Amino acid sequence: MSDKSKAKALQESLSYKKVNYFEQASEAEREEIFAYAEGYKAFLDAAKTEREACAVSVEAAKKAGFTEYRFGDKLKAGDKKYFVNRGKSIAVFRVGKKNLEEDGFRLIASHIDAPRIDIKQNPLYEDTGMAFLKTHYYGGIKKYQWTAIPLALHGAVVLKDGKKIEISVGEKPEDPVFYINDLLPHLGGDQMSGKAGKIIEGEQLNVVVGGLPYRDEEASDKIKLTVLEYLNKAYGMCEEDFLSAELSAVPAYPARDVGFDRALIGAYGHDDRVCAYPALTAVLNCESDHTVIAMLVDKEEIGSMGTTGMQCKVYEDLMEEIAIALGANFRKVRAVSKCLSSDVTAAYDPNFAGVYEKMNSAILSCGTCMCKFTGARGKSGASDASAEFVGEVRKMFAENGVIWQTSELGKVDAGGGGTVAQFLANLNIDTVDLGVPVISMHAPWEVISKADLFSNYKAFLAFMK
Ligand code: MN
Ligand code: MN
Repeated sequence: MSDKSKAKALQESLSYKKVNYFEQASEAEREEIFAYAEGYKAFLDAAKTEREACAVSVEAAKKAGFTEYRFGDKLKAGDKKYFVNRGKSIAVFRVGKKNLEEDGFRLIASHIDAPRIDIKQNPLYEDTGMAFLKTHYYGGIKKYQWTAIPLALHGAVVLKDGKKIEISVGEKPEDPVFYINDLLPHLGGDQMSGKAGKIIEGEQLNVVVGGLPYRDEEASDKIKLTVLEYLNKAYGMCEEDFLSAELSAVPAYPARDVGFDRALIGAYGHDDRVCAYPALTAVLNCESDHTVIAMLVDKEEIGSMGTTGMQCKVYEDLMEEIAIALGANFRKVRAVSKCLSSDVTAAYDPNFAGVYEKMNSAILSCGTCMCKFTGARGKSGASDASAEFVGEVRKMFAENGVIWQTSELGKVDAGGGGTVAQFLANLNIDTVDLGVPVISMHAPWEVISKADLFSNYKAFLAFMK
């Protein structure tokens, strides 16, 4: 052996390098990667809000033989259950053979809410040939990205008599869509010289919902009246019913393959359905001696508060109820449980290289991405997984051929973000973040790699094995 080849061999055995999963995968595995993406795209199109994601997940769970669980129900090894919280979050779980006090839960937590444009409680007005709904955006968005694109309206309205109406308009090809106006460039000189955060302001995100005046000599606000008449005929609504409504405008586009080779998927709401779908399907499809749970929760984008957010006691109660039903001490169970907090991370984007530190960025198609810690500045707000737990997960992945990588969101001082990891770690559960890298996160249309999606699914299966 020459010195040169010896150095090369040494380099190969000692150095770490990320690998592209598409490149690494056999022909058969590439086919699996592409096939799995088809189910995911169908899920995305059927589940644009947390309510819809919850309903679609219930259907999938039922189809896989899971039955509904309520607090106090008896449980035994082999049970396959789902638990619904207020129609907006869901936990799907399997009871394993292993002793829960000794083995704990294998838990995956993802969120099913996504940034969007919520309709205000008194929203409807008409002005100069158009009827509009006033809005209040939800989550961290670049407001200017939500103008001049087709929007669909989704949500629920509780009528005066207490009856709940579900609304979804703008998804079928024959449906009308909705729209937020932008300014023509010819008159946009002042607008374009301003700061991007001010190009479109919150109170300009008004959604066009009509333009046809009601035929009447005397009526005022005739376009608004036409809209009200339509809502009344279609849903039994009157204007006052907006007071108890949760309606959201979301991009009306379906998920589509991106690129000639179809390696990528563009869609609304990859964050965080690209983790929720693998979490759900992993629990539905896995065979495990562990007690495994996937929690798909709401309100992550606005701080995980309230009755459906991860900070609500309901998830802790659920775990405790399962422990009690199996005759286990919950404190002992928590202490040995393990959790993957599964949320997206930023994929390195060569078009915006300045905000990333490439060595520690998520590289597209190099697999699902572990973030040992999140937070901002000096790791502020991070739960920061231990080297021991990271080492344990790393070993699981290696033994199961999972292609994965690690990353931080961006440069140390460039910004930051958080996930639900801290709330689970605070329960005394070893937790680390693991999720799919996303291009254009929080834009109306985000992009991910099919390889990273499938890697995430494989990682969950390995974790639950
Ligand atoms: Mn997220
Ligand atoms: Mn997000």
